[in-house]
Order: sequence, then structure tokens, then C-alpha cells
Amino acid sequence: MHYIDGSWIESANTFEVTNPATGETIGQVADGGAVEAAQAVAAANKAFASFAALTAYDRSALLYKAWTLMTERSEDLARLMTAEQGKPLKAARNEVKYAADFLLWYAEEAKRVYGETIPSARANQRFMVMRQPVGVCAAITPWNYPISMITRKIGPALAAGCTMVLKPAEQTPLCAIAMFKIFDEVGIPAGVVNMVNTSSPEEVGNVWLQDSRVRKFTFTGSTEVGKQLASQAVSNVKRVSMELGGHAPFIVFDDADPVHAAKGLSLLKFLNTGQACISPNRIYVQRTIAEEFLQTLTTRVAAMQAGEGTTDGVTIGPLVDTASVDKVERQVQDALDKGAKLLTGGQRLNEGGLDKGHFFAPTVLSDITPDMRIHNEETFGPVAPVIVFDDERDILDKANDTAYGLAAYLYTDDISRAWRIAEGLRFGIIGINDINPTSAAAPFGGMNESGLGREGGHVGLDEYLDTKLVGWTV
Ligand code: ADP
Repeated sequence: MHYIDGSWIESANTFEVTNPATGETIGQVADGGAVEAAQAVAAANKAFASFAALTAYDRSALLYKAWTLMTERSEDLARLMTAEQGKPLKAARNEVKYAADFLLWYAEEAKRVYGETIPSARANQRFMVMRQPVGVCAAITPWNYPISMITRKIGPALAAGCTMVLKPAEQTPLCAIAMFKIFDEVGIPAGVVNMVNTSSPEEVGNVWLQDSRVRKFTFTGSTEVGKQLASQAVSNVKRVSMELGGHAPFIVFDDADPVHAAKGLSLLKFLNTGQACISPNRIYVQRTIAEEFLQTLTTRVAAMQAGEGTTDGVTIGPLVDTASVDKVERQVQDALDKGAKLLTGGQRLNEGGLDKGHFFAPTVLSDITPDMRIHNEETFGPVAPVIVFDDERDILDKANDTAYGLAAYLYTDDISRAWRIAEGLRFGIIGINDINPTSAAAPFGGMNESGLGREGGHVGLDEYLDTKLVGWTV
């Protein structure tokens, strides 16, 4: 189903949605294209003036209602997410909570879109700065965080007074439909939020990019696709937000507790089976503590249980599709061919019915060198590649030696070192002895080729606001 102008719409064609853990078909979804994409923009454009004219308090109330209903439905949403995306139920519950946080945070923040007055050098002049919604926004969201990536965009857009057209990833349309049911039921006015489902993302994306009524384009996904979209958005000077790939370094210094750091890494790296843009992809450990770190890491990773996310004790879900398993396998093989050491895992998982899904064993590799693909490519899989280093002096150069710049992590108990390194890392998000530096209240986003703009926090609202200066002779 699509949701356009307050109505649920079917298409003649459908596409299939499967459970990546079992290969079972769990739904058929309307397969839209250019026609629905254009209808959605028309609806969002028609709804814009009256939605922007609502008071901030009215818009806040709608977001608050959506948060309330979402919270009531959180268990159903989590179970749907596990079936459609594969992550373990506990992780799905965490994501639903995180996703709901954006609705609540922006329900509050909607009331704090402040302007400014500025003193003028002319005695009879006054300056006033007002903030206004940018207009119709188009959003394209990914499958790895299928609900929170929707609320992280819709929350601030609605708080600002924008209307939106959204295309979820073709792997996870059911989560998106469940969210739009909530938006519909809480009475968000027709045309304010619209969703088009498609198995041809480019077709829908192109319509939105070419339509000059769409004033902002917000995308979360791969750097490759993000670059294409951003370059097209330039043609009619749309505002652009891009939350793209990452290649996070995770640096463990010799003054840190190696056991604590290894536990942190094992939780963070394997979250969502490594399918996260902030997942640590290059793990640097100082030589004197490397052995203890690797021992703890390997023991913990070897004990992880892969399977369907609804099974008790499962912490590793499937990868999203066969191509993702192939990519991880190629990276691991390439590393082993070039001299990496396999400490655990390293192969596809086929036993006990896992062959029906897309499973790869949680893997630890050491002796990683810069000529290996895994050293340079984003992994998006359950592989922890470890590099031993000697000296703090060149660690910043190593960590920064990537086109990406999203998240970076360091473990140290030396406060001067923590400051030095955090300041020198060219990444948008830094975790210091912290494996979860994210929150609806905090800005999330990357430097360099990891993105443009920030989502979350009050900065995330700015992305949906234009600044207007009024000069006034009195
Ligand atoms: P991932 O590697 O996370 O699948 P993608 O960038 O391929 O990353 O997908 C993220 C989102 O971008 C999905 O909603 C997908 O449908 C969409 N997408 C992929 N290619 C295009 C394209 N050429 N134009 C518009 N959207 C696209």
C-alpha cells in the first residue's frame, strides 16, 4: 500500500517482502512508480500552506499523539521489525524505543523554533530573523533501521511545519506501513505525510529530484547512491541532508582496561549483525594489551548465537540478502589470502536451518594490513578486523585515513589523551569509553563523504527551516 493524501492506495503490481532469517514470504506490497511519486508531491504541496499555518502547539500535539500510539504498539512494531529486517527482538525493541524518542523530542522542540532580533547600525532600522519551514521534503530511508530512520526525518519535518513524501527501502516496507498507519490514525492532516512503496527506487527518486516543488531532499543510505542523489538535487537547488556510509575506527589505548574494551566492542560491532553506518570497521589495539583484548573478544564472539531473532539467546541475526553475505565472504577471503589470521568464524552458516536465511558467522580477524579490502571498504557485516599499533603518534593519521567520517571510538583512561584524540579525529560522532553515543537529543551525522547535515537534537530541526531576515525602517 501507498499512503497518499490521507488515503491508502494499491497498485496493479506488487513486490514480495521476505524474512531474511527464513526466506519466507511475509507480505506483498504495492509496487508504485513515477505516477504515485508525482501524486504524493502534489498532495504534500497542497497540504503545505495550511499545515505550516498551524500553531507550533498544534503540530506538537500531533507528534505527541503519534508518540503515544507508537509506544502502545511498540511490541507489535518490534516483532514486525524482527520478521522483516531480522534483528534480534531485544534489538528491535531498542530501535522502536529510539524511534519513538524522535517523535517525543520533536513534539517538545516544535515549540522552541525561536527567531532573533539584531541591532542595526542605522538608528531607524530594526532587524528581525524568522525561521520558516522549507516546504515539501522528500525522504528516502534504508532497511537497516527501518523505523527510526523514518521518525528521525518525519519528527523534525513536522515540528518545523514541512510536509513530506517518503520512500522506504524495498526490503522493509511493512515497518513503514505500520508507522504510516499510526500517522493516519492520530489525525495528521491529509497530504502532510505521504509514502510511496516501490521496487524501482530510482524511478521514484528521479521524480522527486526533478520536481522543483520539493525543496529539500533527505537521504539515509550508501555513499554511492547519496552522491548520485545529491548531484541531481543541485539542479534546482534543493536543500540536501545526507546520512551516508562510515568506516569507524575503534582505538584501544594501553591505559584502558582491555577486557572492558573488548566487551564493548563485541556488543557494538555485532549490533544489527554489523549492518550499521556507525559500526566499528577498523579496530586498533595498542600492542601491550593486544593479547588480552583479542582473547576476551574471541571468546565472547565465538559464544554468540546466530538465528531467527525471536529465538531466546540469539544475538546475531541474518544479513539482509545474499549479495551482502557474498560481500562479507569476499572481504574475509581476501584478508585471509593476504595474511590475516582467523580467530573465530569466517564462514557462512548453513547448519540447523540457517541455510534458508542469509547468515554469516560472527568473525574476528587479526593481522589486518592496509592492502586488504576490509581495511578500506565499509564492511556492513559481522566481522571485526583487528590491527595492532605501537605508538599514539601515528594513530590519528591511520584512523583519519579514509574518505568516510561518521563515527569513531576510543578507549582510554588518560583524560589528556582522550581530549587530544577526540579533537584530532575527523568524524562527526565520537564515543569515549562509550559504545552508544546516540540519542534523539543529540546531533547525528558525518564529516567528509559520510554526509551533509545532522539529524536529531535542535540542530536536526534547523535542517527543515529556512532563515528569513526582515529589515524594517521605523
Ligand atoms: P543500502 O546499501 O543501505 O541498501 P542504498 O543506498 O542502496 O543502501 O539504499 C538506501 C535507500 O536508497 C533505499 O530506500 C533504496 O531503495 C534507495 N535507493 C537505492 N538506489 C536509489 C536510486 N538510484 N535512487 C533513489 N533511491 C535509491
